[in-house]
Amino acid sequence: MVVGKKHLAQAGCASPALDVEILLCHILRVERLFLYTWPHHALSKNNLDAFELCLGRRESGEPIAYITGLKEFYNRQFKVNHDVLIPRPDTEKLIETALLFLPLGASASIIDVCTGSGCIAITLALERPGAFVIATDISLKALKIAADNVECYQLGERVSLRSGDLLESCQDLQNVDLIVANPPYIKAQAMPSLMRDVYEFEPHLALLGEGVDGLAHHKRIIEAGARLLKPGGRFILEIGYDQKSDVEMWAFDKLLPPRFIRDDADHIRLIVYEKPGVFLNG
Ligand code: GLN
Repeated sequence: MVVGKKHLAQAGCASPALDVEILLCHILRVERLFLYTWPHHALSKNNLDAFELCLGRRESGEPIAYITGLKEFYNRQFKVNHDVLIPRPDTEKLIETALLFLPLGASASIIDVCTGSGCIAITLALERPGAFVIATDISLKALKIAADNVECYQLGERVSLRSGDLLESCQDLQNVDLIVANPPYIKAQAMPSLMRDVYEFEPHLALLGEGVDGLAHHKRIIEAGARLLKPGGRFILEIGYDQKSDVEMWAFDKLLPPRFIRDDADHIRLIVYEKPGVFLNG
């Protein structure tokens, strides 16, 4: 364990001790407490080989979630692989904001655009038993991971997956309560300055925004989605911490002016648009 930590520290890994523990637990299929309860537990040759393989991947900068194939989001585990973005703690703010709009007992129809691993759609469905969610993605490979996560949480009856660009597959819908999305929004020129773990290992399809401001996907979602919302329905979209001023230049005639929501680090990270009318929540 000590040798592993040293290797990761030398490779510039920010949390070598934690990473070694997570990888060991992954190999041994145990909880972290096991490592402290049985500190002298001997590794079999197979375990050792597998552990070294994992350490090598981590040393080369691969995010730990891709090595273990799992990431926690809103206190639940989600399956991930290189076809989907690793769920970010920042995006939990989108969930918190959506839940404020969705009364616990009410039924609600929700669209999650660019669903990736499905973590947003699934979390909303689990937190709101009256919710029906349609989750879309342009990547069939991403939808495969989302489908595994939907199955894992036995949500087949309340979360349906549709393939297509943004809202292309949702044109038959109407009276939608809420459209949520974490679309790609990194500007092309900012891509190379992303952290190495992100730039080299996460899917650029899910990161690279379109247009000079990186927000063309957001604009297209709002333009195509306004018609699908019921009066009082809302959009909640994630943006980068420096993109508020770009959003302020937009005007949509069928929507109220946007509200901006800050994350826990006090950065504006969400935009909320509302279609005039009465919402579920009054
Ligand atoms: N927040 C992500 C990052 O910093 C980007 C997510 C996105 O583009 N939707 O890497």
